[in-house]
Amino acid sequence: MSTFSTFDFKGKKALVRVDFNVPLNDKLEITDDNRMRAEIPTIQKILNDGGSVILMSHLGRPKDGPSDKFSLRHLVNHLSELLGGKTVLFADDCIGERANITSSLLRPGEVLLLENLRFYKEEEKGDEGFAKKLAVLGDVYVNDAFGTAHRAHASTAVIAKFFPGDRKMFGLLMESEVKSAEKVLHEAKKPFVAIIGGAKVSDKMLILENLLDKATDIIIGGGMAYTFMKADGGNIGKSLCEDDRIQTALEILKKAEVKGVCIHLPSDSIIADKFDAAAQTSTAPSNNIPDGWMGLDIGPNAAEQFSNVIKRSKTILWNGPMGVFEMESFRLGTKAIAIAVADATKNGAFSLVGGGDSVAAVNMFRLADQVSYVSTGGGAMLEYFEGKELPGIAAISHSS
Ligand code: AMP
Repeated sequence: MSTFSTFDFKGKKALVRVDFNVPLNDKLEITDDNRMRAEIPTIQKILNDGGSVILMSHLGRPKDGPSDKFSLRHLVNHLSELLGGKTVLFADDCIGERANITSSLLRPGEVLLLENLRFYKEEEKGDEGFAKKLAVLGDVYVNDAFGTAHRAHASTAVIAKFFPGDRKMFGLLMESEVKSAEKVLHEAKKPFVAIIGGAKVSDKMLILENLLDKATDIIIGGGMAYTFMKADGGNIGKSLCEDDRIQTALEILKKAEVKGVCIHLPSDSIIADKFDAAAQTSTAPSNNIPDGWMGLDIGPNAAEQFSNVIKRSKTILWNGPMGVFEMESFRLGTKAIAIAVADATKNGAFSLVGGGDSVAAVNMFRLADQVSYVSTGGGAMLEYFEGKELPGIAAISHSS
């Protein structure tokens, strides 16, 4: 495995797997270009060295082969703008004659974008023949798609076997994602607090289990907190609850006690009489929510307690909001936590925010630049913290 920053791309064609899975509106315009912006440093480094860049990505979930709605053609002009007006060539197929000819004619300093990989079913199946057809396009393979690193697809993992050890590497984005995640998972300075929120316990069970061996404190907020409250004998009204997870929740509480990990549940909640932005609201202890009411945010006492834990921590991992932050009435808990994470970071803590909704939250509160790292890979980051080995990372790190 080579290191991207020290590799000299002069005269090389770099086949770069990126995650350009950006949202498009009805007019096929890009509504959020963060994933494209995040790739510019990797592309620039290759071009500055005197290499050429062949970009491959998926976009959306095309079901039956090529369709205009999912064509990467719609990204060409914007990518060109992001590269300071540089011409971006486009191949309307990612393999075969057209891709082969365009890539073979590519000169140093040029950028080529290939058509959507998922127009071929073989991509998601991890088909070796398909991976080989992609591999012939470049001299060097760069994986910079952290968002799909948890998938063993042809372009994210299988392709690596067609390049020798010194011709495959992570790109700058992937490098920094992996470095930040490693810092939290393996080199965390204590106290280490994990803040886990969001809707479902079942989605976060594995991550909680894995963190019991790493964290000093685990803060549990959001809808999933009420399954724990009920497990602990509380009345939770009609708050979210996964009855089939109550036993697991109890086991987590017990394991935490044995391992000396402090689990923090919200002492109070903002409750509502219905799941609606215009609902009637009140505050109640989280273990004594009246019948017919539901907890939709952590309350002011819980926000303060959680903030105090966060502010005395040296390492912070945050995944999942504390409440239904999409609605203004249930936003304050998540906002208080975001502010506490930013404050702790200012005081020297390392903070990593990962997972779609917590990233959306720090962006909403304009605090993204006040935390140490915001991960671009939701599902991939989650699996990483569940302790799983990601195929996209393994394919490069475990080969000679
Ligand atoms: P997740 O994808 O599991 O991180 O869940 C994120 C979603 O959980 C967001 O859309 C929130 O609105 C939702 N959520 C957070 N707290 C609650 C709650 N107390 N009740 C219902 N939904 C919640």
